[in-house]
Amino acid sequence: MAEKKKIESASANTVSNIQNAKPVGNATGYRVGAIILWVLALVCEVLAILLLFGKISITFMNTLVCLIIFIVLDLVFLIIGSQLWKKANHIKPASKKNPTKFWLWNNMGLIVAVLCFCPLIVLLLTNKDLDKKTKTIAVVAAAVALLIGGAASIDYNPISAEEKEAAQVALEGTAVYWTPYGKVYHTHVIDEAMGHTTEDGKDCPYLNRSDSLTRGTVEEAIAAGKTKLCSYCQRHDHIEGDGIKTDDVPEP
Ligand SMILES: [Zn+2]
Repeated sequence: MAEKKKIESASANTVSNIQNAKPVGNATGYRVGAIILWVLALVCEVLAILLLFGKISITFMNTLVCLIIFIVLDLVFLIIGSQLWKKANHIKPASKKNPTKFWLWNNMGLIVAVLCFCPLIVLLLTNKDLDKKTKTIAVVAAAVALLIGGAASIDYNPISAEEKEAAQVALEGTAVYWTPYGKVYHTHVIDEAMGHTTEDGKDCPYLNRSDSLTRGTVEEAIAAGKTKLCSYCQRHDHIEGDGIKTDDVPEP
């Protein structure tokens, strides 16, 4: 199948040394952004709690509508903040040498999700002044928000500083490729524009034939959330290196 692929570069100079320093700076920016958004999410929760106890009131809206608005805003800030945090973890992962920090860094989104909704849920459940209907709807809304926010805050593809370094050492100067929705990056790819061919003259069979394929350094692939090397590509391109994070795919 001679399907045409559109290859776009992740950056203008994918193997330039100038690119290496940039993501480190960004990681801090992403973490600051995440913390600001998480604080805003917690502010929304506090506003919802104050509303619940009649400390604040919005005259032109009923309590339930206000509660739902605060819960939705809480959720939106949480989710965006968690995406920034995950991005920062991919750009500058925590080291496994410090297990506490490693666990904390990779689960921070989930912890914040619990903080963003659990106190509110407990206070809603123990509140005796709310009418039953308002209480039920608000509790369900907060519980659903907790589930969505928690699921969206989990990093399903975490990586450690050691795994990232191993991949960078093994793939130094090598272009890697990934698709928008794939979880892995590939090396066994024919790329005519770069004069890159494969031993068997075929693309990796696990590379989803999508209309858009990104070429970049392994660092850029990991920053894009593609934290694993395709193990088919690893075998067929004879990539050596202990500690590289790979997915486990069989020979097709
Ligand atoms: Zn592959």
